[in-house]
Amino acid sequence: MKNSDTFIVGDNYELISQGAEAKLWKIPAGSLFDVPCIAKERFSKAYRHPTLDEKLTKQRCRAEAKILTKCAEKGVSVPTVLRTDAPVLYLEYIDAPTVREYLENDLLIALDDSATTSRSSQHEKLVQLATKFGQMVAELHNLGVVHGDLTTSNAMIRMPEFALIVIDFGLAKNSFSMEERAVDLYVLERALSSTHPKLPDDFWVNLLNSYKAVADKADATLSRLEEVQIRGRKRECFG
Ligand code: AMP
Repeated sequence: MKNSDTFIVGDNYELISQGAEAKLWKIPAGSLFDVPCIAKERFSKAYRHPTLDEKLTKQRCRAEAKILTKCAEKGVSVPTVLRTDAPVLYLEYIDAPTVREYLENDLLIALDDSATTSRSSQHEKLVQLATKFGQMVAELHNLGVVHGDLTTSNAMIRMPEFALIVIDFGLAKNSFSMEERAVDLYVLERALSSTHPKLPDDFWVNLLNSYKAVADKADATLSRLEEVQIRGRKRECFG
């Protein structure tokens, strides 16, 4: 089947996600690369002029590849870019659950069900996870990268070492702005409370403490975050 001008969908490709901007296909090992990979195909927006649309879609694909490559070169754990063939990006397939899956299908259930002794070990794992998450965001910000969509679905986790791999840099940009860093953190705070209402309050406190320990100019970013939170609450009250 021919899916677009540039991307031919093979019979053994599996559509694993369809978002507002892109479709994600899993391609088995041996088809295009020796390893299984992800093809992220950005699609056209009918409301845009076709020539402009093609240009923008390709630009965004290349920009995402560039930021991913920069993160990988500087040691932040992200999927390796295997090939850029705009508007399709071929990425390393990460065989791991998302942090969201790990929390909802494993850690938070165990926390609810367990006897007091094992509850403390589950709590210990939550502290470890929050610490790793805060470090990861700080590392991105120190590189001058703002992710733009930090959620628990956009980080995958390898156990038992709690190694996090950040994914989906579709909204990411190069920026050292305190405001944009603060908004990045605010988006994450909101995503945590809406996606994981059972998450203990100290998860966010631990995450911010580890962010603070690693991030450059963390004090300025965190005081900016307070302003962003106030603006967010006002918007919620008054629309
Ligand atoms: P995305 O649209 O990039 O947020 O991805 C949607 C879902 O696809 C994620 O929540 C993951 O479950 C999965 N996914 C995205 N990128 C990868 C990857 N490189 N390896 C494995 N799964 C991925």
